[in-house]
Amino acid sequence: MWPRFHAKRAGMARALLPQVLAAAVLSLIVARPAAAGGRCPGGRSARVHVVQKGETLSAIASAAELRVADLLASNEDLNPDALSEGQKLHICPKREPRRGPRCGRDRRIYGHSVKRGESLPKIAARYATTEADLLKRNASLKGDPTNLRAGQQLDVCTQPMRYRASRLCDYRTPVFEHIVIEGEWLAEIASRYGVRQRELLRLNARLRNNPDRLRSGQKLRVCPDIAPRVREKLEHGVRKGDNLASIASKYDLNPRQLLSFQRGRLDNPDRLRIGQRLVVWRDGGIAPGFAEEDEDENAQLVGGIQLPQSPDYAIKNPNTAWGTGQTVRLLQGAIKSYRRRAKKPSKVVVGDLSRKGGGKFPPHKSHRSGQDVDVGYVLADDGDGRTRFERATKKNLDLQRTWQLLSAFLDTGRVRYVFIDYNLQALLYDYAKSHGTRESELDELFQYPRSRHRAYGIIRDDRGHDDHFHVRFQ
Ligand SMILES: [Zn+2]
Repeated sequence: MWPRFHAKRAGMARALLPQVLAAAVLSLIVARPAAAGGRCPGGRSARVHVVQKGETLSAIASAAELRVADLLASNEDLNPDALSEGQKLHICPKREPRRGPRCGRDRRIYGHSVKRGESLPKIAARYATTEADLLKRNASLKGDPTNLRAGQQLDVCTQPMRYRASRLCDYRTPVFEHIVIEGEWLAEIASRYGVRQRELLRLNARLRNNPDRLRSGQKLRVCPDIAPRVREKLEHGVRKGDNLASIASKYDLNPRQLLSFQRGRLDNPDRLRIGQRLVVWRDGGIAPGFAEEDEDENAQLVGGIQLPQSPDYAIKNPNTAWGTGQTVRLLQGAIKSYRRRAKKPSKVVVGDLSRKGGGKFPPHKSHRSGQDVDVGYVLADDGDGRTRFERATKKNLDLQRTWQLLSAFLDTGRVRYVFIDYNLQALLYDYAKSHGTRESELDELFQYPRSRHRAYGIIRDDRGHDDHFHVRFQ
């Protein structure tokens, strides 16, 4: 097999020789400053990238759909810790996948080399595709998953971001490199990406010794659940009627974060002077190489189980109460723990999980893979009687028991996010704050008090979540 392959390639190379020579000459001209480092594998020519202010190596690699290691390979003299504005980098074209046509709205075909111990369902999950699709695209499998062999080359149809996803992030997203700016703290950083602080500690070993002492310019690895955004520094001139909260809201910032950006230069934050200049870091577009994650169209529920009946909760519709084994276990555990904690526990109202087998479930956007569950808020005088959702308001929401129920879910440590109406978030936030929850934990958990227009934290606003909250498990 190998010799034939080489012979073929050699023949092709001869045919292409004039073009290759021309390209080599061209790349010598273009890539003068670091000709030695600017060479690309296969005689392809590099393009030159001029480093912009604030750019990181991982961002540049990501935008070019490359790995940092690829950049280091094509730039011999590059010191990854001393990237400077205006510096020129050679970027080699990404090696094209074996076949690269589009295979869906936002998907392309990539090559996957099967590793020892991998199974077809595992590969399907890794690329957010289905076993059926893998079987259809790969004749070498002959329609049978047991024909999978280590070293086999498979075509997979997936999103570019998913293709570049990192093992560190369970293949959900590529790693993003956050650069600390002055006045940031860990909980605030975690909330930018919708992750927990301990997740940042897991990914950044050096942080563990001293999580409270971040320095500006420090780089942190993160597996973002909320798409990372490019930031720019600007000045806000205080106008009549402005106060810290209103300015923060204008830039979708936490008011305490805005205050912290001033580095103590504000003598009286409650009394801003007209014309005074404030430092603001504003979010711009989504960082290159990342995308707002859409619900996975192909998501299914394989091997799901139906939530069993229990005296602890009422199931609105058993036909649509199918989840993964883990979801069902976590859901039951959280409810049990709430009922132990609460003085007068209510019967919890459980709405939809997924359909049997999962898949599309209108009018829900998600609820496709058995990892989502809708849960009723606890209302005043709730006992064991209520079996449907009812709209929660300031008047009827039982803050103590709802916070206990919500905490029981969060304490499982396996919640990816929770959708809660913004106004109800404000009530729960204030309740939790006045009942001993630390501010740094609230910063991490709640989108509130930042504006409702930009996702932050684990608990986020989403339309229609005023009669139930929606929990997405990992
Ligand atoms: Zn839902």
